[in-house]
Formats: sequence, structure tokens, C-alpha cells
Amino acid sequence: MNRRYRKTVIAGNWKMNMTASETKKFAEEMKKIMPRAKWCDTLICVPSCNLSAAVKAFKDLRISVGAENVYFEEKGAYTGEISADMLKDLGVKYVICGHSERRQYFGETDQTVNRKVHAVLGAGMSPIICVGESLEQRESGITEDWITLQVKSALFGVSADRVRRCIIAYEPIWAIGTGKTATAAQAGEVCSAIRATIRALYGARVARSVTIQYGGSMNPKNARELLSQPDIDGGLIGGASLKPDQFVEIINAANQD
Ligand code: PEP
Repeated sequence: MNRRYRKTVIAGNWKMNMTASETKKFAEEMKKIMPRAKWCDTLICVPSCNLSAAVKAFKDLRISVGAENVYFEEKGAYTGEISADMLKDLGVKYVICGHSERRQYFGETDQTVNRKVHAVLGAGMSPIICVGESLEQRESGITEDWITLQVKSALFGVSADRVRRCIIAYEPIWAIGTGKTATAAQAGEVCSAIRATIRALYGARVARSVTIQYGGSMNPKNARELLSQPDIDGGLIGGASLKPDQFVEIINAANQD
């Protein structure tokens, strides 16, 4: 973390978990244990049908609400899809773009991720852009090249002014939901490479202002060490964000000096 230049952001990703009533209960639990002072921004990305319930339930907790996906068109005949303006109107502040589960199961590509990033920024929200390598890619030594390509594609055509509003989440696919975590050194190395890519595209001042998260089985036990890496400015947390006590422990880890 480096709070001097950029925000530390702890984000939950609930995936397809939690009903609206469970969201309310979660918020009630959080109220009992949430630290009073926070040096990090906190948000939870919830299923779209629960966005309104989450905005209402998390308001007093100073937890922002994020969406897990968006469609890039403004409006029209796209049955079942949700636009960036619709999310913004509900009080959503962040949108996950290109999570590996969407790339793997729903045909998301670097091109559609880029269009979504533009749509989210255009509506005044912040995209959380997920990038990450598979185990085969890591083992064949192409992690950095792959991640660089994903970052460059996602940011294609994004202005320097707007890139400051983007969060990049480095999520090695082999570490998501598997209980396997990248070592702090592995995660730190890739996050530094991501910052170097942003530096090459936008210059040093912009690069040092962008928040880069690690995601992949982050939990209360490993959070502190991961967050102590200079280029890791927070976490995108799946499983552990569903449990109030674990999520708060990770927030506390991000509150360290
Ligand atoms: C995620 O879905 O973004 C994630 C990192 O999940 P988990 O923490 O469960 O590995």
C-alpha cells in the first residue's frame, strides 16, 4: 500500500450469493463490528437484483455498493441486460469489468471488457478491471506478457484523466475460490508490472495514483502480508466477503500503518 499517492480499497465480490433479506442481515452484523475509523475505502459488489437493498442497508456503514457486471450499450433491445446509467441511478459507485468467471463462462473478451470500461467511466462510476493468468500460463512463463496485454486492451482509448478513476484487480485464475493464494512476492511482482504498464501508457504521476488490488483467496490470515507489498493497494475478496467477521478482519488489516 502507499496511501500517500492512492486510495486503499477493500472490495467484496459476492458473486451469485445472498438474497436481499440476507443482505440486510449482513449489514446488521457489520454494524456491530465495523471499525469506527477507516483508512481504506470499502465496497461490496452484489448481484444486480440486490443493488437497491444493498445501497439502503450499507449507507450508514460507509460501505459503497458495486455491481458485478454491466452491458456496454446505452439502451435498447438487449433483453436481460443492464446499462451503466441504470446502475448509476441506483446509487452504484463501482462496477466489476471482466471478472475471470465472466470471461470463462459468459464469453467476455478483452474487447467487451474495454467497451464496458468506457461505459462505466462515461456514467461517472469506477470500473474494477480484473486481469489474471491461468495456471498453464504461469507455468509457461508468460504471466507478465499476458497481464500487460489484458491491461492495455482494457484501457484502450481511456484518457489519463479517466484512468485515475479505474481500479485494476490482479486475480490469478488459479487462486480464485481455490484456497490457493499467490505468495505476497508473486502478487507484488505482477502488481508492479501492472503499474509499469500504466506508467508506460500514461506517465509516472498517473501510474502512482491508480489503485491496484490483489484478489484470489485473500483472507484474514494472508491479508496483512499481501497488503504490505508496495504496489498492492487493496483486495477484491470473494469467499471471505460473505462473512462479516472475516471481511472486517481484512478491513482492519488494511487499516494498518
Ligand atoms: C473473486 O471472485 O474475485 C475472488 C477473489 O474470490 P475468492 O476470494 O473467493 O478467491
